[in-house]
Amino acid sequence: MAHEHHEHHGPEWNKAAEAALTRAGEQWTAMRASIFDVLASFDKPASAYDIADAVSKAQGRRVAPNSVYRILDLFVNANLARRVESANAYLANSHPDCIHDCIFLVCDQCGQTTHIDNDTITGSVRSAASGAGFTPVRPVIEVRGRCADCAASVQD
Ligand SMILES: [Zn+2]
Ligand SMILES: [Zn+2]
Repeated sequence: MAHEHHEHHGPEWNKAAEAALTRAGEQWTAMRASIFDVLASFDKPASAYDIADAVSKAQGRRVAPNSVYRILDLFVNANLARRVESANAYLANSHPDCIHDCIFLVCDQCGQTTHIDNDTITGSVRSAASGAGFTPVRPVIEVRGRCADCAASVQD
């Protein structure tokens, strides 16, 4: 079923992100590194504005959302970040060295977003699209609902 790969955390995660960006032929600049740090610190999808605010605070100087947006775009193309469409925001990719069509689980109550990888499901979506004469680039599968924490607090 799900393809085996380990998810990254901490400094090892930054190393994996740096390696993925370098493989994509891009430089791991100080600015890109600090944007990745900030992005990885969010457990909910963050907008370019949220990230620009946090990076500005960390660097003690104003960083424009526009330049953050360009870097996020680059991260998405190099598999370092994923866009969560229904939240109109970004998450750091926990497996930058492994390409999947991640399936996002978005909590409507607290906004926490986790994901699962199931290449069988996303493969079916891709082949259904191909069967309809459509060339799929990026299937977007997002499940809205309630995370385990919020579901548990409802029962209290
Ligand atoms: Zn994934
Ligand atoms: Zn929740």
